[in-house]
Amino acid sequence: MSIQRRVRSVELLFHQLEKEIAQFQSHTKLHCIAGCGKCCTKPDVDATPLEFLPWAYHIFLEGMAMQVLEEIKKQPTAICHLYRSLTLMDNTKGSCSDYPHRGLICRLFGFAAGRDKLGLLRLATCKIIKENQSEDYERTVVAINNGLSIPIFSDYYQKLAQIDFRLGNQIVPINRALQLALEEVLHYYAYRPLPLKFKKVG
Ligand code: SF4
Repeated sequence: MSIQRRVRSVELLFHQLEKEIAQFQSHTKLHCIAGCGKCCTKPDVDATPLEFLPWAYHIFLEGMAMQVLEEIKKQPTAICHLYRSLTLMDNTKGSCSDYPHRGLICRLFGFAAGRDKLGLLRLATCKIIKENQSEDYERTVVAINNGLSIPIFSDYYQKLAQIDFRLGNQIVPINRALQLALEEVLHYYAYRPLPLKFKKVG
C-alpha cells in the first residue's frame, strides 16, 4: 500500500478514536489538566512506527525529515523527542510540539481501557487525574463495569496492525518509533517521484 494510503488509513482510525473519546469524556467529565505534560515525560513510553507515519509524512513534506532524523538519533534522553517543557525547573509542565500528529498511545492514554487477567476493563489513566478528579474517576470505574462504552487499547492496536502489519505490530520505545516512521517515508521516496506537496528546504 502506498505511503499516502497508509497515512490516510491511520488518520481515519484516529478520527474514529477522537469521536469515541469525545463521547467518553462527555459522559465522564474526565479531562487532562491544562499545561500538564507529565505522561509525555515518562522515559518508557512505547509505540509502533505506524502510529507516527502521519507525523513522519508531514515532516517529510516540510522537507525536514533528514534533519529531524539526525536530531532523534542524537537525543540524549528517552523522553519523547516531540515533547517541549515550559520551564527548566519542572519538565512535567509542557506539551506536545506536534499535537495534531501525536501517536495512538498518546491519544488512548487517560481515556481508554485495557483488560485485566479476568478480562475486565480497567481504565488506564494517570495519578493526577485519579487524585484531582477522584469523584468523576470513581464514578467512571463503576460506569465502565456497568457497560459504559470506552475505547479499548487492544482493539485500536489490532485495527492499526490491519493497516500495515509490519509497522503496526512492532512495539518499540517512542523515539525509535519516530525514527522508524521517518526512515519508512525516506526509503519509500528514495526512488519515487516526490509528492506534489513536498517543500524543498534550502
Ligand atoms: S508524541 Fe506528543 S503527545 Fe505523544 S508522547 Fe510525544 S510529546 Fe507526548
